[in-house]
Amino acid sequence: MAKILSGKEVSARIKEELKQEVAALKEKGIFPGLAVVIVGDDPASRVYVNSKKKACEDLGIYSEEYALSAETTQEELLSLIDTLNHKKEINGILVQLPLPKHLDEESVIQAIDPKKDVDAFHPVNVGKIMVGNYDFVPCTPAGVMELIHESGIEVSGKECVVIGRSNIVGKPQAMLLLHENGTVTICHSRTKDLKETVKRADIVVAAVGKPNFITGDMIKEGAVVIDVGINRIAPKTLVGDVDFESASKVAGAITPVPGGVGPMTIAMLMKNTVKAALIQ
Ligand code: NDP
Repeated sequence: MAKILSGKEVSARIKEELKQEVAALKEKGIFPGLAVVIVGDDPASRVYVNSKKKACEDLGIYSEEYALSAETTQEELLSLIDTLNHKKEINGILVQLPLPKHLDEESVIQAIDPKKDVDAFHPVNVGKIMVGNYDFVPCTPAGVMELIHESGIEVSGKECVVIGRSNIVGKPQAMLLLHENGTVTICHSRTKDLKETVKRADIVVAAVGKPNFITGDMIKEGAVVIDVGINRIAPKTLVGDVDFESASKVAGAITPVPGGVGPMTIAMLMKNTVKAALIQ
């Protein structure tokens, strides 16, 4: 049976350290602040925003929430971002994605001051990640790296397979593994022989968005399996992209869903907010 990589436990430890760091910063007159912007009433987005706000409260980070109606125009949203870019109490700006269809996500992301871009989605920050000299790392891939380190696994020289190539998870994840000298393969919907490719991996990161998609027969004995997926298959049931039951019998270490990558993502957002306050 695989070792369980509990993001819940690791993130609690990180948050405790951050709490002390925030208290020490406040004594020096530095008050980290995060603005969270949500447009519309997507229930999943609401849950994520609430947990981000709660994490700020727990750590003593100042936060502001901007809940805008689903009818908000592009101009209104850009104007809010401009205000937040110049607001001195705010060090980090997070616009919860996805945005309603009539809004252009790309130009919204580009409007955020890169120094306040705690999600690290702005092209300036994406470019910095590419060259390997960065301040902010996208929160989910950063959380995944922490969990891999936590499993005691050296990435250097290992076969790493990332399934998914989104800008927010798959691509930055692959770069972070590469920076640690992993031999990285990125799989996507056009990949042939997915099973054979995944089976080669010492480290598997699944970010597909398909419930229980990666099964135990695709996993090499002893591999580290990180499940980024969050799929709601019933009102109160969340599952990952990995079929935990079969994969955990073969893997050396595996993340659960929930309680794996999810809480790590929030801890990394807090870390980026504190970093943003220090940079500014
Ligand atoms: P996207 O939908 O943006 O990307 C999914 C990727 O999976 C795409 O690159 C797609 O390929 C690939 N894919 C789809 N079908 C297949 C297939 N049959 N075989 C191989 N690859 C396939 O999703 P995200 O990256 O935004 O998110 C992925 C998952 O992670 C979701 O479940 C999401 O909810 C979760 N998530 C969790 C977070 C957390 O905090 N734990 C944070 C962010 C996301 P192609 O590019 O060819 O279409």
